[in-house]
Amino acid sequence: VKRAGRHDFRFFTAAMQQRAARHLRVVNALRYALEREQMHVMYQPQVSLTTGRIIGAEALLRWSTPELGAVSPTEFIPAAEESGLIIQIGDWVLRQAVRQARAWLDAGLPPLVMAVNLSAIQFRTADLPSHVAQILYEEGLPPEYLELELTEGVALQDPQGAITTMNQLHDRGIRMSIDDFGTGFSSLSQLKKFKVYKLKIDQSFVRDISTDAEDKAIVSAIINMARSLGLTTIAEGVETIEQLEFLREQHCDEMQGYHFSKPLTADNFRALLENESR
Ligand code: C2E
Ligand code: CA
Ligand code: CA
Ligand code: CA
Repeated sequence: VKRAGRHDFRFFTAAMQQRAARHLRVVNALRYALEREQMHVMYQPQVSLTTGRIIGAEALLRWSTPELGAVSPTEFIPAAEESGLIIQIGDWVLRQAVRQARAWLDAGLPPLVMAVNLSAIQFRTADLPSHVAQILYEEGLPPEYLELELTEGVALQDPQGAITTMNQLHDRGIRMSIDDFGTGFSSLSQLKKFKVYKLKIDQSFVRDISTDAEDKAIVSAIINMARSLGLTTIAEGVETIEQLEFLREQHCDEMQGYHFSKPLTADNFRALLENESR
């Protein structure tokens, strides 16, 4: 038992060392990612379940380097958060997305809401509301075309601070949605205090809604609760027609997922929009 234990321990540290080394490589490479133009933004359509039309886009960051290849945001976003680089990177994404939304408006395409993910660390920077307003002003985009996606954690860690920041964003006409909703255990009474416009139902609940009775119940409860609070709902990770039909029956407002489209380059997104508005 003793020997096996020691062996396990050694194996464990080797794996840990490997992970730490990878993490270091990622953080070091991240420092140069923007200046070396290794990042770009993809856009995934958000679709109305009543009209079937594209009404929004979520900006999703992509990064690849010659040495590391394509790195998933699920790996590099946490690394960017830990190292503080998320402030600079998040700023860049926000500006790109806002600029893109303005460009599509200028091209005469039907107006959409551009959704941008905001890390908790960005959310807590002191001047966030005026900073976001400044970017909108500089890029010439009216605030109603921007939506900031925040996770429940943002609100739960410091509810008072979150309320203040959300009020300031709301006063400037900037919309907020709660991302990955259902995974952070927000209560109904907490939700009421936040100036939130939309709930994004986490894809972990959507995945099995056509087969799992519990997930069905959870999703339907979220949609009903949201409606009674006057909130819009969007389901993410919708991959099948069965999921879509269930969501429509439950009167979910919007959907996003591979069933409609994967995240697209700006050019491909534009082609899709042009095709739709024709
Ligand atoms: P998220 O905000 O929950 O984004 C949704 C993720 O689900 C995206 O993964 C998207 O590509 C993926 N997805 C969309 N439709 C489907 C589907 O039908 N099935 C499945 N299985 N997946 C689908 P992605 O792009 O890899 O991003 C992962 C996470 O990284 C995001 O989760 C978000 O938390 C974070 N992230 C991405 N871009 C940014 C960013 O610019 N800023 C910040 N702070 N976080 C970002
Ligand atoms: Ca999101
Ligand atoms: Ca999400
Ligand atoms: Ca997620």
